[in-house]
Amino acid sequence: MSDSGSTGDVDAIDTRGAVGVPDGFERIWTPHRMAYLNGENKPQGDPNDPLLCPFCLIPTKSDDVALIVARGTLVYVVLNLYPYNAGHVLIVPFRHVADLTELTADEGAEFLLFTQHAVATLRSATTAHGFNVGMNLGSVAGAGIAAHLHQHVVPRWGGDSNFMPIIGRTRVLPQLLSDTRQLLADAWPADPVRNP
Ligand SMILES: [Zn+2]
Repeated sequence: MSDSGSTGDVDAIDTRGAVGVPDGFERIWTPHRMAYLNGENKPQGDPNDPLLCPFCLIPTKSDDVALIVARGTLVYVVLNLYPYNAGHVLIVPFRHVADLTELTADEGAEFLLFTQHAVATLRSATTAHGFNVGMNLGSVAGAGIAAHLHQHVVPRWGGDSNFMPIIGRTRVLPQLLSDTRQLLADAWPADPVRNP
């Protein structure tokens, strides 16, 4: 799966201040894409510095603020702030590693386990018809935050790409991110590490 679109990076995550707060108005909700297209919250400075890494910063915040769906021992699951589709989540190791080959055996096992749980949870909670699952290793492959490994899980529904392309373009999202996070957090297995 490619992250590449007209602007390249679609993984950038902001500092999760007050995202997804409902205001009572129905609308076609795409500010996440505008923020991305405008280049907001892009990591500055040395991308290999964990102190500047969004994926290292996210777990230091509350689940609500950071849009974290689930926390494991070695990895966590978070909504992508710039999703291709509603329910687009990222599986991220807590440890700041860039490449799949750098994961320990235990990290790799939980990384895969949580990918499986993301698929199962999205399938049960959203009736998704299919999924795109994958990683972009390195900026040249389309990774937005190449310094910190992350796995994309994107739910797909029949007809979801009829009107707008799925990759690298503005999409119309039917759910606010905070609602989606709550839906998935409630549906996530209570103890997925011990009871997969
Ligand atoms: Zn990091």
